[in-house]
Amino acid sequence: MPRLSILFIFVALPLRPATLVRCGKLLDVAGGNLLSGAAVLIDGDKVVAAGLASSIKAPATNIVDLSGATCLPGLIDVHDHLTSDPTHSGYQGLGISVPRSTVTGVKNARLTLRAGFTTVRNVGASGYSDVALRDGINAGEVEGPRLLVSGPPLGITGGHCDENLLAPEFHFKEEGVADGPWAARAKVREVVKYGADLIKICASGGVLSKGDQPGTPQYTLEEMRAIAEEAHKLGRKVAAHAHGTESIKDAIRAGIDSIEHSSLIDDEGIRLAKEHGTFLVFDIYNDDYILQQGAQAGMLPESIEKEKKLGGLQRESFRRAYQAGTRMAFGTDGGVYPHGDNARQFALMVKLGMRPLDAIRSATTNAAELLGWSTRAGALQPGFYADLIAVEGDPLQDIATLERVKFVMKGGQVVRNDWSK
Ligand SMILES: [Zn+2]
Repeated sequence: MPRLSILFIFVALPLRPATLVRCGKLLDVAGGNLLSGAAVLIDGDKVVAAGLASSIKAPATNIVDLSGATCLPGLIDVHDHLTSDPTHSGYQGLGISVPRSTVTGVKNARLTLRAGFTTVRNVGASGYSDVALRDGINAGEVEGPRLLVSGPPLGITGGHCDENLLAPEFHFKEEGVADGPWAARAKVREVVKYGADLIKICASGGVLSKGDQPGTPQYTLEEMRAIAEEAHKLGRKVAAHAHGTESIKDAIRAGIDSIEHSSLIDDEGIRLAKEHGTFLVFDIYNDDYILQQGAQAGMLPESIEKEKKLGGLQRESFRRAYQAGTRMAFGTDGGVYPHGDNARQFALMVKLGMRPLDAIRSATTNAAELLGWSTRAGALQPGFYADLIAVEGDPLQDIATLERVKFVMKGGQVVRNDWSK
């Protein structure tokens, strides 16, 4: 039966050259196991099999030898601003055009990917520079992580997401400003129209904005309900910037999907987050940068003063929320500190009492769940994106090893390989 055997050979061999990555150890993040002598088989941009090397029989054309390294899924940062740098703070930022910030985004996308972050949620950018960056990356024109982007963040007039540095005669309002439930609904529709994957809103005051306080509410419960309902109807999740105690609770009650910063969350807020399954994102690393380098970078004196009061409280809130068992996703607010240093936050999370495995889960399985990508990213399983990083040593023993990523693969393509050097 010559015809049948030809057919058999055709089916059994991969249509494209398969890649086999040999890993000294492989961290199964969901199961919490560290497998020795492991391998990951990749076809195209997806994982075909992952596990003990001896159990993977399929032929591979390309072999990547990381047999001295520990492999784990590519990391995810759910709160980033790739089109922004710390030097864009304060009055200096007013001179930066949207095209110029897009170029900054190209630089930062590359830095962030090479630091091991293969997926990033960008929560706030002007002029849809983030949409352009995402599309450029997807088209293969520039190097960067998979991006989910929000476009301009929604906020109230004079709030954290407005621009408050200019005198009234300039008549300037940020493009995301929308007051009242119906205007906010219309703004959700508008940002979706221009390419947003999710909606970002400013529920409370913030640190880097002029004239407001992080603890005071901005969007009302009524406005946030309208935003959440409209966004969910259009298949988009909502991330709410909320430092303040009341804003955090209102955002959770309104059905917002993630609370960004979460700085002044109280026990009731923690209970509500658990009840609603809301993700909390604590960007606890950038406090160090703002206090040490913020003034030099051009941040307003009032911003530094706000951070002095808020940073320590946020870290304490992180500790309480973790102990209470809330869902947490890893977000750093890149752009407030220099891009590429994202992984520095892990060591701080562990120092504040988080188990290293939970810190890694917050940036893989948990983050993927928040993104709605739990069947495609955050784990090395059949059918998932072949997004893989490797480090020297065991990140469960020394979490800081994630700051020194030696190998990065995105969608089956090697982006960085310092291992064989
Ligand atoms: Zn932010």
